[in-house]
Amino acid sequence: MPAPKRKPAASAKTTPPSANKIEDKLARLGLRTDMDLVLHLPLRYEDETQVVAIHEAAFMAGNAVQVEGVVVSCEIQFRPRRQLVVTISDDSGPLVMRFLNFYGSQVKQLGEGTRVRARGEVRHGFFGAEMVHPSYKIVLEGAPLPTVLTPVYPAGEGLSQTLLRKAIGAAMARVDWHDTLAEPLRTALKLAPFEASIRLLHNPPQDVDEHALEDRSHPAWVRMKFDELLAQQLSLKRAQAARRAKGAAPLPLIGTLSAGFLNTLPFTLTAAQQRVLTEIRADLGASFPMQRLLQGDVGSGKTVVAALAAAQAIDSGFQAVLMAPTEILADQHFRKIAAWMEPLGVKIAWLTGSLKKKEKTEAQERIESGDAQLVIGTHALIQDAVQFARLGLVIVDEQHRFGVGQRLALRNKGLDTTSALDGAHTVPHQLMMSATPIPRTLAMTYYADLEVSVIDELPPGRTPIVTRVVDQDRRDEVIERVHAAALEGRQVYWVCPLIEESEALQLQTATDTHATLMAALPDLQVGLVHGRLKPAEKQAVMEAFTRGEIQLLVATTVIEVGVDVPNASLMVIEHAERFGLSQLHQLRGRVGRGAAASACLLLYQSPLGPTARQRLRTMRETTDGFEIARKDLEIRGPGEFLGARQSGQAMLRFADLETDQWLVEKARTLAHAWLHSAAPDDAAAVDAHLARWLGAREDYLKV
Ligand code: ADP
Ligand code: MG
Repeated sequence: MPAPKRKPAASAKTTPPSANKIEDKLARLGLRTDMDLVLHLPLRYEDETQVVAIHEAAFMAGNAVQVEGVVVSCEIQFRPRRQLVVTISDDSGPLVMRFLNFYGSQVKQLGEGTRVRARGEVRHGFFGAEMVHPSYKIVLEGAPLPTVLTPVYPAGEGLSQTLLRKAIGAAMARVDWHDTLAEPLRTALKLAPFEASIRLLHNPPQDVDEHALEDRSHPAWVRMKFDELLAQQLSLKRAQAARRAKGAAPLPLIGTLSAGFLNTLPFTLTAAQQRVLTEIRADLGASFPMQRLLQGDVGSGKTVVAALAAAQAIDSGFQAVLMAPTEILADQHFRKIAAWMEPLGVKIAWLTGSLKKKEKTEAQERIESGDAQLVIGTHALIQDAVQFARLGLVIVDEQHRFGVGQRLALRNKGLDTTSALDGAHTVPHQLMMSATPIPRTLAMTYYADLEVSVIDELPPGRTPIVTRVVDQDRRDEVIERVHAAALEGRQVYWVCPLIEESEALQLQTATDTHATLMAALPDLQVGLVHGRLKPAEKQAVMEAFTRGEIQLLVATTVIEVGVDVPNASLMVIEHAERFGLSQLHQLRGRVGRGAAASACLLLYQSPLGPTARQRLRTMRETTDGFEIARKDLEIRGPGEFLGARQSGQAMLRFADLETDQWLVEKARTLAHAWLHSAAPDDAAAVDAHLARWLGAREDYLKV
């Protein structure tokens, strides 16, 4: 949050500017209250309790050490570049301190005869032992060494460690130290006391287990992580309760549409689809809004489950809306669902940004009048002009592709309109779908307020996809293989390389690849689809491919999500080393959808870096989306996983989702117990704990 603006002249005169500035700078780090400061814990520690003789330090290259000596020379050198070179010396020998950036004041400060304590890594320079940019301080002879480790805090611009230390020290003297975990509970959980833990982390005693401090396994750290996770769980659960308190129109399973739909489906649901459908049906019947995440690997059949949920809403006399992240995907949903449901008399509207003005107005009118029972489209659905008559269910496909704000905007479309029905303040039920499986740890921490349904089974009759990693040099063989497959009546995707730096270049590559493949395979119909085509053109190409008129489809990543052409059974991905794991998995999911044995060829350009090698190996070894997600988490860390839903992450500063799993479980259990307890003490504990750990930050979690 930006610091509040101050009036320029008047206030600057009345308050000392420096105090004000410090406050601003602290605020920029999110440090506003005393408790914020107290919970601003060190990143790491420096050991300044020892001084090493310079000649010994010279043998400890690569380690941070502290030496003490007297300046024997201090000069600015100009070659090979401008730098300040200060030589200090103790009884055992000299050491050079080298500063590539320095202030004029340092030159004065480090005059000959000054006694300095310097801390840094020693290396062997041309003139013997040296430290580059050591931290140092001027001391008097015989000045006592600190007896505790020196904390190093996360700092912002213009905030020195000294200043932070002072501010934190002052806050510690004022703050309310009461432990939010009552004594018996704390003992039962085997956790250290709050105050003692914090004091230890800010000022570790001499005999502390430094290693445990460093890897944050020290009981004091464990207590901090637990508290933090507890706050997060409490807050997410409370947001969930608030949502429930809002109320929703119940959409019970009545009417004939759902049953009719199931009867006319050309297949029977898998056991997993049946199970998640039962979960969703129960939620929809409740008078508080469903908030459910439907996870299922690519190809597991989420669309039909979504359509069945929509049928239930329609049966109850409400509208349902399905939003997808791309035109291609929205279009495909529309076709598929219309084929299923229009014969049953369901009226479906279609709304995307590419519609002509007149068509758009028409669609909007049908949505507003309630004539359209099911609405399918893209982001265009969020626009202000779109008003629903009685929106009961919101479905978001590939939800991680949307921002929190976008999803919220769609949900809010149901607010005013449904409230007119019975005067109550209601929100629509919400079903979010994702093929990017979220590992359990993440699901528990970041989605603690969501119900999660998982389709953990693929429809029968799929043959596993065989994945091969192939050197770019063997392109000719690959083209031959494509040719052979096409002659057998199979269809092929050829995915062009991702060029992140330049969309123009990516487009160029796609066009070039298309031309090359047309020339190499003159007897095949080769199509091209990319993001710059007009929606109608894109649609035409995709339709031709679906009908089997195009045998080889050259494509950019526009086909990444959702595209479903069961007859396509071979995919070539060029420069596979440039793609991320989940992206490769999504792309590969475009094949293996029919009965034919499918293959995916990952072309790479050598040499491969270690991460790329690891990614391609994972792709070759498994097609299990959860396994791939787990590996992805290992390779990339949790941050990138969460897409737009970063809210929960903003809160976790200390806990580490991989190593602290056991703490997450403990925190969850306690959060549940507290929130379901009738004891006033527990309710007070929830408030106190949230106030302490979140303060103003709780707003992050309101979505
Ligand atoms: P995703 O979960 O990736 O969105 P889709 O909903 O696109 O998967 O389904 C993939 C394909 O499987 C579609 O062609 C769909 O019609 C088909 N399908 C879905 N459920 C079943 C089932 N129970 N039996 C056979 N085919 C199914
Ligand atoms: Mg899908």
